[in-house]
Amino acid sequence: MSCFDPLKFRQQFPLLQKHVNEKPLIYFDNGATTQKPQCVLDAYQDYYKASNANVHRASHVLSARATRAFEEAREAVRTFINAASSKEIIWTKGTTEGINLIAGSWGESQLKAGDEIVLSYSEHHANIVPWQLVAEKTGAVIKILPLSNNGTLDESKLAEVITARTKVVACAHISNVIGRINPLEKIIARAKAVGAITVIDGAQAIAHLSVDVQALDCDFYLFSAHKMFGPTGVGVLYGRLALLEQMPPYQGGGEMIQTVSFAGTSFNELPFKFEAGTPNIAGVVAFAQAVRFLRTHQGQAFRDYEQKQITYMMHKLQNIHGIRFIVSEAPDIPVFSFTLRGHHNHDIATALDSRGIAIRSGHHCAMPLMEYLKLSGCLRLSLAPYNTFAEIDEVIEVLTAIVRGEE
Ligand code: PLP
Repeated sequence: MSCFDPLKFRQQFPLLQKHVNEKPLIYFDNGATTQKPQCVLDAYQDYYKASNANVHRASHVLSARATRAFEEAREAVRTFINAASSKEIIWTKGTTEGINLIAGSWGESQLKAGDEIVLSYSEHHANIVPWQLVAEKTGAVIKILPLSNNGTLDESKLAEVITARTKVVACAHISNVIGRINPLEKIIARAKAVGAITVIDGAQAIAHLSVDVQALDCDFYLFSAHKMFGPTGVGVLYGRLALLEQMPPYQGGGEMIQTVSFAGTSFNELPFKFEAGTPNIAGVVAFAQAVRFLRTHQGQAFRDYEQKQITYMMHKLQNIHGIRFIVSEAPDIPVFSFTLRGHHNHDIATALDSRGIAIRSGHHCAMPLMEYLKLSGCLRLSLAPYNTFAEIDEVIEVLTAIVRGEE
């Protein structure tokens, strides 16, 4: 039996020990970015103190050391998501850049007028706008999968929306507003049946689920280090080798080439073909530490703790007068989105902030979802396993006081 001690876990995060607005910080904005444990901060600094050099370039000791750490990080990520080859792991700046890479490289080279790109109403802007840009350039058309009442993509509409004209199906594993796991198995099977590629935005899922890209059988899977206790500015594009091999480079420059001549340039092998220029080496090395950290903790007890957070929070929130959940069913990950009747979202978020409580209000980079739900925005509390039940109690107490007009 794996054991998980939330307080010991929490103690590893220096920022969580701080005060904000003279109150102990309660950080409930983990869907936006998580805090970083000391071991990740140390790995970042240690890299600059002990190994700093450019990768894959020089024959000196430091460069060899930096290259080794950089490639070991790639291997750590490969194992983490069970990719078949480390050539399928491309470093990016984050989920957004990964989707832009696919839309720009695969999309611009493969799509033509009349081809269809299937998205859903609950996508983050990062999984909408790159497709709009490529649709504009190629004449491809965007189709939208509706949602079912429980907030997940509507399985009953798959056959109607994903057709022989569909070339790409791009959707989130878990929406950053709804927090429910989409029926990927069925979506991917339907996409395969019509010969479309699948692009899965794993930004919200990766810190909560164990992801196996081979079992999912998707073509692309994207995520960001900063949402799983790693640094900002680093992300992963997993791509099926056969597709990556066919795709033209996304950006040109050093590192992504084999030879350059004015007579013609030849490109490097995978994964380097998609990694032009000096990468965020310190970030990648620190990210490997975050992956090891998450692997150490992310057992059954970690998941059980998250489930307890969900049950507890739902129970408490339900008792707040005037609450309207975005989706009535409990989320699969601790992400809770709602509005409070008679109260402006930003006013609530500001009142909480004055008590040292960080939450998010607004459209959550999901304006089409807000339009679909006929909302201008909502509040979102998103938890990580370092959040305690005492913190939940405190937030509920403040929310209740606001609703009663006592704050
Ligand atoms: N997709 C989803 C579902 C997200 O929640 C986010 C970030 O909030 C993104 C994509 C974009 O991630 P990033 O800003 O790290 O590129």
